[in-house]
Amino acid sequence: TIGMLALDQNGDISGACTTSGMAYKLGGRVGDSPIVGAGLFIDNEVGGATATGVGEEVVKTVGSFLIVELMRQGRSPQEACEEAIARIVKKNPSKDFQVGFIAMDKQGRTGSYCIHSGFSYRKYSPDGHENVPSGSHLKG
Ligand code: ASP
Repeated sequence: TIGMLALDQNGDISGACTTSGMAYKLGGRVGDSPIVGAGLFIDNEVGGATATGVGEEVVKTVGSFLIVELMRQGRSPQEACEEAIARIVKKNPSKDFQVGFIAMDKQGRTGSYCIHSGFSYRKYSPDGHENVPSGSHLKG
């Protein structure tokens, strides 16, 4: 999945995600990416979130919507991503799969979290850009 979140100079937030789906997927499978609320959710009053990884696990928690709702309730983008991953791991403790989220709020604060380490995202701003490593539920 390629997930993107953007905040423009007027403070309006938008997002997109694209995917080829999972390797060896069954014909007719629909992952999380095309499902609003699962692979991507934006609320211009709050912020946005997008997911990558095993879509079946993201759909079960409507993960991107969950993150935006947690931000609405006052969590930072980072805290909201961590909570969404914790819920996924609680439902499927096997942890033999990867899911990652990125999120951004209306102030432009960002967060990301994944189950297994090795995931990062690129942050662009008028001041420059940086590669930001994601925190992960399982270290190493
Ligand atoms: N989330 C996608 C899916 O489950 C896979 C990906 O990360 O590209 O279809």
